[in-house]
Amino acid sequence: MSEGIDNLPSTLLDQEVHTSLVDLLKSRGYTDEKLRICLQARCCCEYCDEYLLHSVHSWHSSQWDHIVPGGPFDHENIALSCQKCNSIKRDKIPPQYCGNRKEFSSLSRPDKIRLLKSWLTDARKEYHLEEEFNAFRTLNESANPGTDRKYRSAAQA
Ligand SMILES: [Zn+2]
Repeated sequence: MSEGIDNLPSTLLDQEVHTSLVDLLKSRGYTDEKLRICLQARCCCEYCDEYLLHSVHSWHSSQWDHIVPGGPFDHENIALSCQKCNSIKRDKIPPQYCGNRKEFSSLSRPDKIRLLKSWLTDARKEYHLEEEFNAFRTLNESANPGTDRKYRSAAQA
């Protein structure tokens, strides 16, 4: 149900940059549907608003998330997501709809995004703490081999 390139939503970018971006993405094989998703998201993660063009890494690690897992790949059901948000969301829906996937599916796209955004904002806080903790632990372990095991056995004693 492609509506053609001329009807794509415009980004906040000025017209010249917008046109160059569209040309660039097209030259990289983006279909009209993928272009539409990128542009309607203004090239930001739809769950945390990270601007995905701010680094090569964030753009290349961005992902297509199925808002309703198992649903169609179209601009109604696909959200542009950063790798971190999608690694938390995966194939889940907000916990309050876990027993009622049908009700979640029937919401409008903006409502689904709003609910997912709020759930993921909370989940990310825990996730980042966990991630940071593990990074420090790994760093400490490489600088002081054996201390992780030593502290853990001391904690258990
Ligand atoms: Zn994100």
